[in-house]
Formats: sequence, C-alpha cells, structure tokens
Amino acid sequence: MWFGAFAMAHEETPDVLFQRRSKVLSPSYYHHYDEPLHAVRAQGVTIWDQAGKAYLDCYNNVPSVGHCHPHVIDALTKQASAINAHSRYLHDTIVTYAERVLETLPAELDMCVFACSGTEANALAYDIARTVTGHRGVIVSEGAYHGNALAVGDFSIYRGGASATPEFARAIPVPPSEETGVDGRAFADQTAPVAADLGRSEFGLAMAMIDSIFDAPGIFTAPSGYLARLAEIVRSQGGLLVMDEVQSGLTRLGDNMWGFMDSGIVPDIVTMGKPMGAGYPLSIVAAKRPIFEAFAETRQYFNTFGGTPVAGAVGNAVLDVIEGENILQSVGQVGRDLTAGFESLRQRFDCLGQARGKGLFHGIEVISDPRSRQPDRMKATEIVNDMRRAGVLISACGMFGNVLKVRPPLVFSQRDADQLLTTLERVLGQNERN
Ligand code: PMP
Repeated sequence: MWFGAFAMAHEETPDVLFQRRSKVLSPSYYHHYDEPLHAVRAQGVTIWDQAGKAYLDCYNNVPSVGHCHPHVIDALTKQASAINAHSRYLHDTIVTYAERVLETLPAELDMCVFACSGTEANALAYDIARTVTGHRGVIVSEGAYHGNALAVGDFSIYRGGASATPEFARAIPVPPSEETGVDGRAFADQTAPVAADLGRSEFGLAMAMIDSIFDAPGIFTAPSGYLARLAEIVRSQGGLLVMDEVQSGLTRLGDNMWGFMDSGIVPDIVTMGKPMGAGYPLSIVAAKRPIFEAFAETRQYFNTFGGTPVAGAVGNAVLDVIEGENILQSVGQVGRDLTAGFESLRQRFDCLGQARGKGLFHGIEVISDPRSRQPDRMKATEIVNDMRRAGVLISACGMFGNVLKVRPPLVFSQRDADQLLTTLERVLGQNERN
C-alpha cells in the first residue's frame, strides 16, 4: 500500500531513523540532544515522541500560539481549499494582514512586504538599506545571527566556524543586560568611533541590524537608553537602524508586541519572521513609507511564496489568537514568575551565573564555579540533556554555548512554568551530587 513506508517509519527506533538521517542529510544539519528526539505529534506546549512519552516544550517559538492550534489549522485548510496563488493578484487576506501588522507598529512604520523566512526578510532589509543610502557598510553586535544566505550570512558572526567578519561589517559589543542597571546611553557611545570609521571608509554605513533580545550571543535585553543612542549614532553617519524581531517579536518579551518598543524607539526598518505563521513560513519587512518609495524607484520586489492568500489567512489567524487569548498579558505574567524562579535557583546553585531575559525568553548562564565564573559549556550541555530525559525541552546558546535557553510557545502557562522550574531544580540538584 502507498502508506506502507510511512507506517514502517513510525515503527523504527530513533537510532535507526538517526542513522538513515545521517546518511542523507548534510552533517551541517545540526540536531538537538545526545539522544535525538523523534517527535511525532504535538498540541499546545506538549510534544510526544514515537514511544508516546510527553515532553513540555520550553524551546520552540515557531509554533508561537501553541502546536497545532485549531484556529490556525482551520484558517490554513479553508484558504488552501479556496485559492492559493502569488501576491500579484488582489486578495483580501494579505491586505487585511498587512493592515493589522502595521497597526501594531509605531505609526511611522506604515508599509510592508512579505517573504518566507527571517533570512529573506533580513537580506531584503539589507538590500533596501544599501539601495536607499547608497552605502554598503553594516554594524551588528558580536555573536549576532541574522540568517543563512550569503547576503546576511556574511555578517552573521555566530555561524559555526566563525569566519572573519567581512571588511564592510563591524561587530560592536553586546550591552550588559538591563537587569545590571548599566547606563545604556553611555555604553552605546563606544559605537560612535566604529560608525564614524565605517562612515569614512569606502563602504559608508548602510545600516545597523540589531536583534532586540541578542539571542545568539546569549540573551541580553537592551539597557535603558542603549537603542536610542545607537539610533542617533547610526543616523548621524547616514545609516538606517534595522531591528530584527525574528526572535523577540509577537509579544515574546511580555511588555509590548515588539521587543524594540520596550526602548521607546522608532526604527527605520523592522523585520519579523519565525513566530508569525505558527509554523507556516511567513516573514515581513516593515519600514517607513519614504524608504519603500525610494527603494521602488530602482527596484521591483517579488517573492513567489511571500504574501500568498494562505500566508495571509494564517497570519490573521495567529493575530486572532494573540488578541483573543490575551497572550501579551499572559506572557508578561508567566514571564515574571519565571524571572523570580530563575533568580531563586541562581542564588541556590553555584553552577548558575547571571539569569537574564524577560517575558518568555530567558537565558541562564552555567558557570564552572562562583569565583572564577568561567563559562561551562559541558555542564550546560549535560543539563540540557538531563532535562530532556526528565521530559522538559530546553537548549543552550551564547558565544560560549553555556547559556540555558528557555523560549517556549507563547501559550505557556503558570502551571507549565512550575513544571519547568521544579524539573530544573531537580536536575541541578542531581547534577550537584554527581
Ligand atoms: N534573525 C534572527 C535573530 C534569528 O534568530 C534567525 C533564526 N534563528 C534569523 C534571523 C533567520 O531566520 P530563518 O531561520 O527563518 O531564516
């Protein structure tokens, strides 16, 4: 029967599936956990493996409103059954979606275009910045990741094997997270000579691209005044400020819809991705109208799968859930519980350093001991694997790979937070005894 191979696939052990995977998928296709997870079904914040074991998902931000949300699936299947085509025909789903997304942004950001991934959105933002400013230079933060295509991969310093930063890009230090109370304006001042140097060079300064949660470098929130001062510096060299909301957007940080809003700034361009389509590939570039108008003078933009009727229907359904289920409020509340919980664990366990982040995006440093405070990547990896065995999925990130990363679907509840914190406490206790 045609479905025979599929049925068999479900019966094989994860080891056998892993061997098959290793034979055909490039080794650069990274996987999680020393015992890779064979995930076969998911709902809300739960993932089940092939043996029927349930895991609390504290890692995935793509199924933003929860795995397999019925409202999203309904919208997707209904639209896919009516028509799905490119964005050169008129269709109301995508116009309504554009209107709704723009309503959530500061009024100055009043136009957008659609793409399929964060990489594409950032590559387009860079293309726009280059075209509009006539410059080529880029400022990013140390350890930043903005995508995998050549255009943005060149300045995605985080990518494994860290090749040298290209001549047209400069990396600036990641600011200490806002919990430290550091003066963000003063910290941003050190960017001025870097921007001036690039401005004077043959490249000029086209843009600074900043991830509002500094995820890849290890999860830091922008201290007060940092982004405002950075914007002044970048604009004084004729560049644009591009905020990458691929990670931090859609209520993730708990106070506002978009992470940069916590700083009260208005960027020139904003890019959005990952969580927008709850698993359907959907990304957005929003910018001030004069920027898009200047870009359109010399450039056309078309993206076959960007902005289809189905993308619009799914995007609208995700926004319905965000609004209808009061997600922003709940992310804020659960986030405060998590902050308190991680802080208390940090005080009790010597292997934990700083606990950073907010809303449903947290990073907890794992260190060798409280005196030397050396990043301990091995211990972080052990904790991540022990948590997986205990039925809770997290990961590790950061420039030294030692920051426990907690970034669950946005529908994560107080009860889920309790389960995460209790399990982490148990795992840390066992780890301490070993
Ligand atoms: N920007 C940031 C901040 C990201 O974290 C990522 C992906 N992890 C991207 C851009 C690229 O997004 P995508 O994988 O959808 O291309």
